[in-house]
This record gives sequence, structure tokens and C-alpha cells, in this order.
Amino acid sequence: MAKISSIEGRILYNSRGSKTIEVDVKSDGKFLGRVCAPSGASVGKYEAVSFPNGKPEESLRVLSENAQKFIGLDSSDLKVIHDTVRSLDKTNNYSEVGGALAFAVTIAAMESAAKAAEEPLFKILSPQSSYKFPFPLGNILGGGAHAGPGTPDIQEILVCSTGSKTIESAIETNLAVHRELRSVLEKEDPGFTNGRGDEGGWAPKLENHKALEVSVKAIENLGFTLGKEVSLGVDFASSTQWNEQKEKYVYNRAGFENSTGEQIDFAADIIEKYKLIYAEDAVHEEAFEDMSELTAKFPKTLVTGDDLTVTNKDILQKAIDKKSCNAAILKVNQAGSLFDAFEFANLATQNNIKLITSHRSGESTDSQISHIGIATKSKMLKVGVVGGERVAKLNELLRLSEHDLICGMAEI
Ligand code: PEP
Ligand code: MG
Repeated sequence: MAKISSIEGRILYNSRGSKTIEVDVKSDGKFLGRVCAPSGASVGKYEAVSFPNGKPEESLRVLSENAQKFIGLDSSDLKVIHDTVRSLDKTNNYSEVGGALAFAVTIAAMESAAKAAEEPLFKILSPQSSYKFPFPLGNILGGGAHAGPGTPDIQEILVCSTGSKTIESAIETNLAVHRELRSVLEKEDPGFTNGRGDEGGWAPKLENHKALEVSVKAIENLGFTLGKEVSLGVDFASSTQWNEQKEKYVYNRAGFENSTGEQIDFAADIIEKYKLIYAEDAVHEEAFEDMSELTAKFPKTLVTGDDLTVTNKDILQKAIDKKSCNAAILKVNQAGSLFDAFEFANLATQNNIKLITSHRSGESTDSQISHIGIATKSKMLKVGVVGGERVAKLNELLRLSEHDLICGMAEI
């Protein structure tokens, strides 16, 4: 059993250039687990808060004042590490220590334990006799809160190579579609600057449907049949459009408004027309009944909660009771600690809710989420296609493909 011998943090920057924290957990004086916390732009109302009063420095102060409480703990005992973080913050949204601290401390401890055990992190997180690769789900075209004016209102158009039999082919295909989409966009608009959004998807001046049409074209230009070998997904991130006063979805960029019913029809039309394998947050974060309508209507699509379920097991239970989704995003920092996220994952798995482990739009170059996706038996790993902080996760999957314990791709 490796024991924590030191724990310390520092201020670093995420991929958006915003301040964040990194935590080093060392066991037995030499096994280093190092984790830098990500952060979101389209943040769910009920997520853990990143930092107390928005200040990363406050999280670090709490850590240094309480570092002694972690010394001597078994670094592989996730529950004990979680309980120790929890002893510093009893709020339900980690507003006193910051969800980023809970995230970084718990994952860094497990990484340190993995190094001490000379095992890959995924195996330490969940000992199983064999594992599968989740399908990479990557952003090829960005809008909404992740890109500037003129881009689509919908936040993300995603690609997933569902026909791939290997992780190498799945990654390669997503990259090819992303690359081809640039050519399509350049032909469409000679003034296209090749600008990209926060997650590496192209950020063209296009309205929602046109953005989906060019994405289909990129797939077809490569000789694939949409919905067969390669499929599209959409993160509507509809809470961004939802206007509580008006009780309408306001599409500022495209210039229209949807009532609740019109939004369901708008999403249903997109799911059907573009044969979506994946539809995230098609309605706003509190519209559990509206999500149920879409879930009932599209059993073959992963009708997914992100802001809806915020990696919170109590909220997921509500979504299960109301049959609001058949899939859910797992973002550890929405929950706070890795222990919280695993509780959510267990509840999802027990209820046949498919998991999609996900990055945040403001990321670090870490790659532990690739292991978390494998350990939680996630069907997909939503980590982008290009950009150093996105490719870091995909490259880790490629390294892990050398491991005998991981056999083939997940069944969606
Ligand atoms: C998302 O909404 O799924 C996402 C990854 O974006 P963010 O990190 O900004 O919440
Ligand atoms: Mg989302």
C-alpha cells in the first residue's frame, strides 16, 4: 500500500488561457500523480463550482492549510481521499474548496497509486478482466458558447466513426472528416479563415442547418454513408438559448425563437434529417419531460443529458424516473471528486444509461480521462479531434492500444 507523502498545488492555465489549478500527489516520496483541472464555458446550473468565489488561489490556500490531513493516507483508497476532501467542504456544490480541487486531488491520488502499483490507471480505477475502447466522439464544427458571432447557435457538430473496428481507425476517420470539412468550407466560402472554436471544431459563418449540411458533405466526400460507417452527433447545449423570462429558445444568430414545442420539433427534425447517432441537451437543463419525448421517439439515438444531468447522481435518478435520456455525459469536474463521478457512473450503468466520458471546453493537456472512459465502460469518449489538449487524450488511447487487456470497441 502506497502512502501519500506530499500534496501540493500550483496555478497554471487551461487551453482558453484562464487560470486553473494543478495538484501533485506523491506517494512513498516518489510516485507522482499530477492533474490539472479543466473548466467549462457552457456550465450547467447545478454543477460543482470550479473555485471558491471564482478564485483558484482560494482552492490552493485551502489545500496548503489542510495538506497534513492527506499525508499517510492510502493513495489508492478513493473513498478515503474523497472523504478527506469532503471533511473540508460539506456544501453540495463544493463551493468552499472548489470542484477543481476535488477533481485534481482525487484523480492525482489515483494516478500516484497506479504508478506505485506499476499498473495503468484504468486498471486501478476499475479492476476487470477485459476492457473495451469507447468510440471517440469529436467536435468538427463549433458554435454557441464555444465560438464567436456568425457561427451556428448550436454548440457542437460531432463526428463518430461507429463502423470502425479499431481505435486507430476510429481516430483516423474522425481526423479525415475534420480535414475534409475544411476543404468543403473553403469551397463554400473563399473568405473562410480556417478559424476554430474552443474545442478545435471549425468556426465558420454559417447557420445551423447549413453547418450540418457541410458536415454531411465532408463525410460523403470521403466515400462514407451517413449513419452507417460514420455518423454525426450534435450538442445543442440548449440552455444557452433558453430564455427563462420569455419561456422561449432564442436563436440570436439565426434570428428565430422556438416555443417549447417548436424546440422539440426543431431537435427532432435535425435528429431525423442528419441521422444523428448522438443528441445532447436538445432542450434546456430543467426540461426533463421534453427530453422524455425525444428519448421515447428516438430509441436508436443516444439522447444524452449533459447540463440536464450534470454528473450528479440525484439528478440522474430524476432523469431515470422520468425516462428523460438513454445516455449521459460524465464530466468529473461537474460532480467534483472522482468518487462522486463513479457513483454517478454506477447508477447510470445499473439503469442502462449509456455513458459518454467528456472533456471540457477549457482543457489541460492531461489524458487521465481516456482511462476514466475505459474504466467506466463508456460507449463514447468526447474529447475533440484536433488541438494539443484534445489530441493528448486520443494519443493516450493509441498508447493504450498496446495493452492486451483492452480488446476491441465498445458496443453502442
Ligand atoms: C459541453 O457542453 O458538452 C462542453 C464540453 O462544453 P463546456 O465544457 O463548455 O461545458
Ligand atoms: Mg454539452
